[in-house]
This record gives sequence, C-alpha cells and structure tokens, in this order.
Amino acid sequence: MKKTSCTMTRRNLLKKGLFSLAALPLGMGVMTPQVFASSLPLISEDHPQARALNYVHVAASASGHPSFKADAYCDNCRFWVAATNGCTLIPNFSFEPKGWCQAWVSAG
Ligand code: SF4
Repeated sequence: MKKTSCTMTRRNLLKKGLFSLAALPLGMGVMTPQVFASSLPLISEDHPQARALNYVHVAASASGHPSFKADAYCDNCRFWVAATNGCTLIPNFSFEPKGWCQAWVSAG
C-alpha cells in the first residue's frame, strides 16, 4: 500500500518535471536577444570607461586610430556578449554591434 503511494508521488513529480521542461522553450522564445539587449543601457561614448578605450558607436569613425583594423567591430570581438550586446570588459552596458574600441581582439 505504501509503495503504491510512493510510486504515485514519483509519477506526479515526473509529470511535473516533464511539463516544466516542455514549457522551457516557450519561455526562451519570449526572451529574445533583443529583450536582453534592451535591458542594458547603451553606453555613452563619453562614459569614462568608454573614453579610456576610445570606444565609438560607429567603427568607421575610428579609422584614424593606430589600433583600428578594417572589419573590426564589437560583434566580432572576443569580448562581445551577443545575448546582451554587451562587453565583458565593461559590464552593465550595451554597445553598438558595429562599434569599436582599441581593446578589440578577433573572436576567431
Ligand atoms: S572590447 Fe570588443 S566588444 Fe568591448 S567595446 Fe571594445 S570592441 Fe566592443
């Protein structure tokens, strides 16, 4: 008798667990990268940390910088965080995907 009760509990737990797993993709669909990106404020080029790295929203505007490389953008940088349009060097802000700074390192 007691064993049956225990089996039912395990069965119910399994059902609830499977239901939760099935619902997970629905939640992930709602939480698109754009939603994550919009949750971080876009950094200002005048922010002290951005200025320290000569960050610009449009990479081409840094073409005169000695460290600038053609086709170097935030979104192909090793420090880019695609889910939030963020940067691991300057957390809690978002960046323009086609921005650039002197700390750029190829992600490839
Ligand atoms: S380190 Fe890379 S991702 Fe971060 S601001 Fe500079 S170029 Fe953009």
